Amino acid sequence: MSEIGFIGLGNMGLPMAANLVAAGHAVTAFDTQADAMATAGQAGMAVVDSAAQAAAGRDFVVTMLPDGPIALKVFGEIVPAAAPGTVIVDCSTIDVASAKREHEMAHKAGLGCLDAPVSGGVGGAQAGTLTFMVGGEKGDFEKATPILDVMGGRLVHCGAGGAGQSAKICNNMLLGISMIGACEAFSLADKLGLDQQALFDVVSTSSGSCWSVNTYCPVPGVGPQSPADNDYQPGFAATLMLKDLGLSQQAADEAGLATPLGRHATDLYRAFVDADEKGSDFSGVTRYLAELKRDR
Ligand code: NAD
Repeated sequence: MSEIGFIGLGNMGLPMAANLVAAGHAVTAFDTQADAMATAGQAGMAVVDSAAQAAAGRDFVVTMLPDGPIALKVFGEIVPAAAPGTVIVDCSTIDVASAKREHEMAHKAGLGCLDAPVSGGVGGAQAGTLTFMVGGEKGDFEKATPILDVMGGRLVHCGAGGAGQSAKICNNMLLGISMIGACEAFSLADKLGLDQQALFDVVSTSSGSCWSVNTYCPVPGVGPQSPADNDYQPGFAATLMLKDLGLSQQAADEAGLATPLGRHATDLYRAFVDADEKGSDFSGVTRYLAELKRDR
């Protein structure tokens, strides 16, 4: 049993922390929202008044926060409060530069640190089947493995500090691009009078096959059940895809690499979100793409 501080009890953090409680760990929780704190208390967590109190004297501190600036602000509060030897595990999706800064802050204070963003969404958080992409020292990864195993179904140690965030944004840049490709293929097939099921039967077993078609087909009534079958209710919200594509472009800027399709996917998702589709699943971008007219 470990003593764990958990900071950020939103859609993802709350079920992740609840799984730690269910596995017998002592979880001390903090969130800036009173309703999140109330729900955490009902789920068997001790609730405290600050991030520093959640971090003091724990074996691990897990953070699940909206973005890099907030995560760095919280690190500024928890690093001075945590006891030497504590391992801080930031599961938020943030920019690579901020993740590297977190490692520096923690190491300077004699703390362990992992950047450990996840994929699998709220369903994976509830079921404890998230995939963790982890950056940081191998020893810290090994120490944290027992608690990550409670929240996740698969752990990948990707390399040094920042490698977890790098893996996450590269994966999601590819996902955004491949979803747009899948949507374009099904829209064109439709205009050509080709049956959507026939296209699925071909693509899903041919060289065009990919997760966006085989598992998460953006067309209703085709392939396994997906948000397309539920009027594009998320799933994985378009705003979160836009956030991750933005992080990929920030990283590409810093690395001096063009990633033209990553940039174009970012522009298309921004236009989709701005078209009042903030709350839609990211596969709903097919509705936006299907309306675009070709310049002649
Ligand atoms: P969320 O907005 O539901 O939760 C974030 C929580 O952090 C909120 O409860 C908020 O009150 C709290 N918070 C904000 N500032 C704080 C502070 N200074 N101190 C303490 N708490 C603070 O977001 P979410 O959907 O749970 O996502 C969390 C992270 O996980 C994000 O980085 C997101 O990109 C990533 N992520 C989300 C999903 C998903 O499907 N929702 C999937 C993978 C990754």
